[in-house]
Amino acid sequence: MNKHGFSAMLILFNIRKIDRKGVKPMKKSISLLGSTGSIGKQAIDVILDHPGDFQVVALAAMKRIDTLEEQIMQVKPKLVAVYDEEKAKELRARVGTHTRIVAGMEGLIEAATLEEADLVLNAVMGSVGLVPTLEAIKNKKDIALANKETLVVAGSLVMEAVKQYQVKMIPVDSEHSAIFQCLQGEELDKLSKIIITASGGPFRSWDREKIAKATYRDALKHPNWSMGRKITIDSATLMNKGLEVIEAKWLFDVDVDRIEVVVHPESIIHSMIEMKDYSIIAQMGIPDMKLPIQYALTYPERLAGALPRLDFKQISSLSFYEPNTDKFPCLQLAYEALRIGGTMPCVVNGANEVLVESYLNEKINFYDIPRIIEAAMAQHQSFSYATLDEVLSVDKWVRQWVKSQIK
Ligand code: MG
Repeated sequence: MNKHGFSAMLILFNIRKIDRKGVKPMKKSISLLGSTGSIGKQAIDVILDHPGDFQVVALAAMKRIDTLEEQIMQVKPKLVAVYDEEKAKELRARVGTHTRIVAGMEGLIEAATLEEADLVLNAVMGSVGLVPTLEAIKNKKDIALANKETLVVAGSLVMEAVKQYQVKMIPVDSEHSAIFQCLQGEELDKLSKIIITASGGPFRSWDREKIAKATYRDALKHPNWSMGRKITIDSATLMNKGLEVIEAKWLFDVDVDRIEVVVHPESIIHSMIEMKDYSIIAQMGIPDMKLPIQYALTYPERLAGALPRLDFKQISSLSFYEPNTDKFPCLQLAYEALRIGGTMPCVVNGANEVLVESYLNEKINFYDIPRIIEAAMAQHQSFSYATLDEVLSVDKWVRQWVKSQIK
């Protein structure tokens, strides 16, 4: 393309963002991956609360087509991707020809790279979100990331791509959104450490013996946060916090020894940063995922939200504890994997995904989760990966190995 063609394209790009009066920015176009999950549904609530600010151009989900059908009526996307091929066919028969329905990983990638999308909100569950994230970045889409497994599995590849294609990577995870908000106007070289808060999950005050017998139903009763099933089990084992430590390493480029976890059962402080001069900056609010979702969609702007205010006069105290890694060994395993580096976090993640699924299906006990993750780590010789294929083959190996241990 010649120089003039390129400038014309830039002008066109800018016009798209400004309305006819040239004042108010136009609607941000969003591709929403994982729309039928907990984050996806709350994202649609946020979007419908601000109809003048956003439009959804694509939806993607695994297989819950009843919810998808409702969402199609609500947001009228151009494209819908259903990962499950059979369910895609079924949905196509239901919605007719005015919405294009695509299927499989190819469909998910199409939703992630749709030309009209400015921002891809990736809220799919598990490492299946990795390839669509990379493809979206290569197509110059800004990313709002709720899919932490993407960074746990291939953090170096993803963050290299973010730099190379100069896109924004905005965290949706409440802790990382907090850190991201605290860092606005600060430089990373003034940061001393990151302090990630943890609610401690539903078993925080249980003893080890009682936890050993806990069923997934006990684990799903999370005290503070309303979330999907997989992440709620991860919260009960503290693996969620472990994955968040790894996620923080990649998002904020800090090494493992500068990331601390503190248990804060009230979940009012969503995370903190300590600067070089030991000044601590915290982000607070009521625990509700709509806030970090909305911030990721509006960043760097802020919109009046639908959330109640935090009233300090109603809070009698805030408490803090050291995490108990004897009761919750998964946190320690994630730290260890991050220290080893290379493909080891991918092994922990793949093993954990299979084990959580098995726990939800009542095939294993609570403490089988850390026990088998540790065994998988011992089976694996970590290496530093350079390609997506290398990571995906480790992910595939560990899933098969863990499945063979469960049978
Ligand atoms: Mg979180």
